[in-house]
Amino acid sequence: MGNVPSAVKHCLSYQQLLREHLWIGDSVAGALDTAQETSQLSGLPEYVKIVEVGPRDGLQNEKVAAGATEISVFGAASESFSKRNINCSIEESMEKFEEVVKSARHMNIPARGYVSCALGCPYEGNITPQKVTEVSKKLYGMGCYEISLGDTTGVGTPGSMKRMLESVMKEIPSSALAVHCHDTYGQALANILTALQMGINVVDSAVSGLGGCPYAKGASGNVATEDLIYMLNGLGLNTGVNLYKVMEAGDFICKAVNKTTNSKVAQASFNARLE
Ligand SMILES: [Zn+2]
Repeated sequence: MGNVPSAVKHCLSYQQLLREHLWIGDSVAGALDTAQETSQLSGLPEYVKIVEVGPRDGLQNEKVAAGATEISVFGAASESFSKRNINCSIEESMEKFEEVVKSARHMNIPARGYVSCALGCPYEGNITPQKVTEVSKKLYGMGCYEISLGDTTGVGTPGSMKRMLESVMKEIPSSALAVHCHDTYGQALANILTALQMGINVVDSAVSGLGGCPYAKGASGNVATEDLIYMLNGLGLNTGVNLYKVMEAGDFICKAVNKTTNSKVAQASFNARLE
């Protein structure tokens, strides 16, 4: 590219990627047309809400802070994980959360419940779908508007995701469920696709796949938002999120914290601009 400054080259390669391989999220009208056609064929939801968890992942909010617009409570489907992560049994955690969620509801602040270890635990291994269902039901029952089912260790597969969701969906409507997948074993996108096919349309992700749980050793970050959007765009599903802008944000954040992106889409685009 001769003497094009590197910042400009960088933009050109994103632009080229988007022009040649994707449609851009800005053209929502066009996106909806594609979504309608595709979802009629596949039974997938037309709209997928992406919840950016980023570096907050693995943190707990146990008090309702002044000015909060939403609070989260982080429960677990594994007794050992609960004890190590939040220093109490599952039952004790539910009692604490009940108070937190109650006071949030008094202030009209929505509460989101997380269930860690929904597809496996770093200490206990297998977690039964029944246990996940039981904990999710408690969180939903105490007033959490949405339950995010977290594959904290990333050991899940489309098979275990399907079995777990089949069980949870008997007790909680799919409209109140989200999935939260880590890519430790390279299964995150396959697991998310399985969840979408089962009617879930809220997915947690983190820009550049950063973040991770400090209590789950070896767990890599959440599925990268860039990779998730790339897949959803390819399925013709509308997210209202612009991949180009997310890639720019990811690039900026990675440079700022001096980390390499975990997003395959960002890596491919980066390699493309080196060629
Ligand atoms: Zn997580």
